Amino acid sequence: MDNRSKKFIFIPFCLIAQAYQAQGIVKYEWKSSIRPFIDLILDYDINIIQMPCAEAEFNNSLIREPKGISKYDTEEFNEHCQSLADKVTKQIKDLIEANYEIVAILGIEQSPSCCVNYIYTNKGMEKRMGLFMQKLYEKTKELNIPIIGINRKYINKSLKKLEKLLTN
Ligand code: SF4
Repeated sequence: MDNRSKKFIFIPFCLIAQAYQAQGIVKYEWKSSIRPFIDLILDYDINIIQMPCAEAEFNNSLIREPKGISKYDTEEFNEHCQSLADKVTKQIKDLIEANYEIVAILGIEQSPSCCVNYIYTNKGMEKRMGLFMQKLYEKTKELNIPIIGINRKYINKSLKKLEKLLTN
């Protein structure tokens, strides 16, 4: 007998590994902002896949200063994000082919790479996807996988949004 869960969720690397974030921007505590997401996802018996951290991989270091979209929106970084999006898409398609279900892809709001709805720019908030997330969306949109942006300033709101999706 095989009791494995057939559901998967794809999450940004730093959702459960805050040390991957740029220096100086981790203002929240692990137990109040990371643990609830892990608990919620595990409560629903869902396999967790951490997508690669586009920024840490590109900088080849975990120690980096925060940079906005205007600094990241270069040919090299876009190519890097495209290559990561291609790899994640292949992983998603392989899982679907093996009869597994992808319940959601999560992003991190405000991130120049991983946001879903809005990004922080030097002119304020702008409505758009991050560079990695946009490419992943373009590659997977025909699969109709829900994409949810997690906002770390509004943890409870984000948790409710995710729970609503998982209960459907
Ligand atoms: S690039 Fe994505 S995974 Fe990496 S720190 Fe930023 S939001 Fe997190």
